[in-house]
Amino acid sequence: MATIRLEDVTKNFRAPRKVGDSFASQDPVTALDHLNLTVPDGQTIAVVGPSGCGKSTLLRVAAGLETDFTGRVFYDDVDMMEVPPGDRYIGMVFQNYALYPHFKSQENLSFFFRMHKAPAEEEAERIRITSEMMGIGFKELLKRKPGTLSGGERQRVAIARAIVRRPRLFLFDEPLSNLDAKLRVQTRVEIKRLLHRFQITSLYVTHDQAEAIALGDQIAIMRAGKIEQVGPYQEVWQNPANAFVASFLGARPMNLFAGGTVVDGELRFEGIAVPLPDEVRARCGAGQKLILGVRPEAASLAYGGRPVPEGIHLRGVVEIVEPDFGHRLQTVYVRTGTFACAASGPLDPALDIGAEVSVVFPADQLYFFDAESERRIG
Ligand code: ADP
Ligand code: MG
Repeated sequence: MATIRLEDVTKNFRAPRKVGDSFASQDPVTALDHLNLTVPDGQTIAVVGPSGCGKSTLLRVAAGLETDFTGRVFYDDVDMMEVPPGDRYIGMVFQNYALYPHFKSQENLSFFFRMHKAPAEEEAERIRITSEMMGIGFKELLKRKPGTLSGGERQRVAIARAIVRRPRLFLFDEPLSNLDAKLRVQTRVEIKRLLHRFQITSLYVTHDQAEAIALGDQIAIMRAGKIEQVGPYQEVWQNPANAFVASFLGARPMNLFAGGTVVDGELRFEGIAVPLPDEVRARCGAGQKLILGVRPEAASLAYGGRPVPEGIHLRGVVEIVEPDFGHRLQTVYVRTGTFACAASGPLDPALDIGAEVSVVFPADQLYFFDAESERRIG
């Protein structure tokens, strides 16, 4: 096991760009941009971010599969520059399982031991423990060749093959994204059990936030080759460092309203004025542009003669109602004069498209971001 540290890593790809019928001068793509990240020994960091933001490149750099980059990669304070991937003791599981097709699953697992001429008892013991950890029915899979397995079964074997090697570092690149929803949840539980049992330092790339929450001790949010924020999910969700993180995290993205200007201690939009809390007022100047944020869960709706909660009120019309029967919630999208915003609350079949409602934002659950830097100021 190891603490993994990436220091000031920049990775450019020089992809030839097609212009008309010929290739223009090479336009570099910055896949990683002065990126810093530490994965503490035995922890799992779940990496999320939009497609193309550099997640796979980050894993490849950590694994040593990319060599042409600047910055440094340390495993336990040892610079890995000169250490080839094969000598780093890494377990990797990618979206497209790469099992040896001609070998039965059992042989896929034992391949590593043959290569390293490990004693047979050690091999048998490690495969036994791993099979037990992998749960019900796994032993049956070992007798079959990858071609006869379903996608989910193949991925279970690929995970087992990686874990049986006792890697110092485990790298997962969207390993469950080809599986159907039910299998995804099952396999997620298996992975969690494995990570918990073996406490292997891991980077887990996913686009599924439920997976990130379930598996990550911390979550890292990436954008355009940079890590925007790292921390336990709940903490980052509650205290997003900037508007991007705020809008990216959560089952429903935070409502963000741009176009407000600070005037006389208020944030003024066309039609409404939001009083600024003291600490926000202290941190911004007159004329500054701010983005106002409020989570759909914090916004409530008043309609049909119900008591109107305290807070900032916006009158609007219901555009869409999205029921979530599993959680007994619905998310209501309301169009007000200048804003479109979402509010989630208890299911109410009586609320229909076109209904007139008031959206209410509680004053103590507002977020403020500087419009230019997008940094949170309160
Ligand atoms: P993600 O995994 O987050 O979707 P990637 O790490 O695959 O993102 O890619 C990051 C950026 O680098 C993208 O703009 C992608 O097009 C570019 N890129 C990745 N690999 C290559 C490559 N081999 N050649 C050229 N560009 C690449
Ligand atoms: Mg990727």
